[in-house]
Amino acid sequence: VVGAYLNGIPGALIAGTLVFPLSYLSLFLKGETDILTIPRLVIIPVVLLVSFIAGLVRRLLTKSLYDQELLRIGSMAAQEGLWDLDLVGETTYYSPRWFSLLGLDEGEMPHTFETFKSLIHPDDLQQTLDSVQSITVQRQTSFSNTFRMKHKDGSWRWILSRGIVAARDKEGRITRMVGVHTDISELKQTQNMMEFQAYHDALTGLYNRKAFYEFSDRFFTSLGREAEEQQQAAVVMLDIDDFKSINDALGHKVGDQLIQFTAKHLNNVLRKSDILCRWGGDEFIMVLTYLSHKSDAALVASKIAEVFEDTIEIGSYKIQSGVSLGISMYGDDATEISEMVKNADTAMYVAKKNSEVYRFFESKMHVEATSRMNMIYKMKQAVKHKEFMMYYQPIVNAGGKLQGTEALIRWFPEDGVMVSPGVFIPLAEETGIITDIGEFVLTTAIGALAQWNRTDPDFEMAVNISPVQLRSPSFYNFLRKAIKAGGINPKNLVLELTENSFLDFHGQTRTNVEQLIDLGLSFAIDDFGTGYSTLSYLKDLPIAKIKIDQSFVRGLPDNEQDSAIVNSILTLSWGLQKQVVVEGVETQDQLEYFLSKRGVFFQGYYFSKPVPGEKIDLGAVLPKD
Ligand code: C2E
Ligand code: CA
Ligand code: CA
Repeated sequence: VVGAYLNGIPGALIAGTLVFPLSYLSLFLKGETDILTIPRLVIIPVVLLVSFIAGLVRRLLTKSLYDQELLRIGSMAAQEGLWDLDLVGETTYYSPRWFSLLGLDEGEMPHTFETFKSLIHPDDLQQTLDSVQSITVQRQTSFSNTFRMKHKDGSWRWILSRGIVAARDKEGRITRMVGVHTDISELKQTQNMMEFQAYHDALTGLYNRKAFYEFSDRFFTSLGREAEEQQQAAVVMLDIDDFKSINDALGHKVGDQLIQFTAKHLNNVLRKSDILCRWGGDEFIMVLTYLSHKSDAALVASKIAEVFEDTIEIGSYKIQSGVSLGISMYGDDATEISEMVKNADTAMYVAKKNSEVYRFFESKMHVEATSRMNMIYKMKQAVKHKEFMMYYQPIVNAGGKLQGTEALIRWFPEDGVMVSPGVFIPLAEETGIITDIGEFVLTTAIGALAQWNRTDPDFEMAVNISPVQLRSPSFYNFLRKAIKAGGINPKNLVLELTENSFLDFHGQTRTNVEQLIDLGLSFAIDDFGTGYSTLSYLKDLPIAKIKIDQSFVRGLPDNEQDSAIVNSILTLSWGLQKQVVVEGVETQDQLEYFLSKRGVFFQGYYFSKPVPGEKIDLGAVLPKD
């Protein structure tokens, strides 16, 4: 029992105390009366021996664990700062590395606990002292903690402190602690950055959608609780007008700068309590908080739009752009954040369509918005359900002989009348659905061309290519494979590009065009004279054809302006040795205007409307009657 007690083994102690009276009891039951003589001699040494061995084992075990820990800390100390705190003698030791982590020479400050305390960031001091305190109370044997400490260069360093309790006195009070300091500032920085990134937009530093939903939800919930009648708030959606064309024309870098400019401007106009977020692309969303009246929201909206009335200078460019805003008042039409966002978006769309600066949401707008959403939905379905069909419009020479066709898409919804491509193509471009549609168009047109080339190996197929398709990284590969699969001669496939495709002629668009040129495809410039591009691409690229837009043909032969424009396009084309296709020829007079001109081809209702493939008669001379 004594041995057990001395070695601090509770088990042995209990065993010792139990075995002793139990042996008495068993002997007593066996009828032994002189129980105090022999058993005592046997039991006491056994108990003492057992407890002594147990104690020894415990000592050895803890010592080796402790030594291991010390060794580990010691090896870390080369890289990390070692500290050793003796709570009895109230002395502290810091290793040279401990000091140098903070830019200090060894002993530049005294080896005291005070030194440590004085270097901790005031905001972290209490928490650090508390955690030291809790170790002594909770009887832990090891601990770790992070806090900031002042570096000599004035910066704050994030320090990870790990340590163990090295010794306790008989009452279990800690007498010595040893540990290491590690500089984890970099780690902390990336951690902070990751937290920042999770809630912010990289380009503008504004909140992202996730943050917006969280913060605005919190705000509106609190607003609902306060239920103060005069307290108003609004969700406002903003979109930069014509951003896509600015981006296309001047490049993504300028586009990005315009977005950053807008972000900064919004930040200046809004108040601190407002919530501002980049919704994505050129869209921003904000919550105007604590308004006293609906008209305040209108005021803020006008203030935001004001800057865009003048030209904005981005680098060496002067940009004339505008913004459209949609406003959804809290409580008027919705109280739930996602509902309010949807309403603000709808109102913004209406404002944009009517070229207004801002619009408040009204419930009747739902109808229009729904029809647009419906159209997008139906278009997606139409791709799956194969509701699209290709029509082909003949392109003829001056004698009316068929040279080729232009492939023009037609949409016959299952449950309705035909929708014109003029209506759905822009929406398809806006939503990216054009990629799927474009693949259908190309595959179908290449299939038809392959068939017609069997009869007429020089017959050409013109296909309209949207700028959205042209800047897609997968476009080239898709087309290459489609041409191979169709087994056509690439020169018979004419890609019709608008001038606007050359506004943003760098990056992926340029790569695609260059690769397609290498592949041997032909190119035509569609709607020539209506775009905004310079003419330099005509000089640089092997473009075979120029298509004169029908808007210049309509007024011929009488309109002098049209005539002047058409003649200069013809002169330009001849000079550059390009073929010319005149679009939209509807009358004999229009045709005759051109008959005296060289190298001109024709396309228009006068010869034929776009028709299904089976109506194309390769040997025909048009018009038929
Ligand atoms: P576009 O490329 O300028 O096509 C010519 C348009 O003029 C066609 O309209 C055609 O039907 C019409 N047209 C032809 N001759 C005459 C005429 O004598 N008089 C009049 N008034 N119009 C004539 P459509 O088929 O409605 O296409 C409109 C636009 O939609 C096309 O203009 C093109 O930009 C686009 N589009 C059509 N199909 C496709 C396609 O498969 N892909 C892409 N990306 N765009 C397409
Ligand atoms: Ca065309
Ligand atoms: Ca055209």
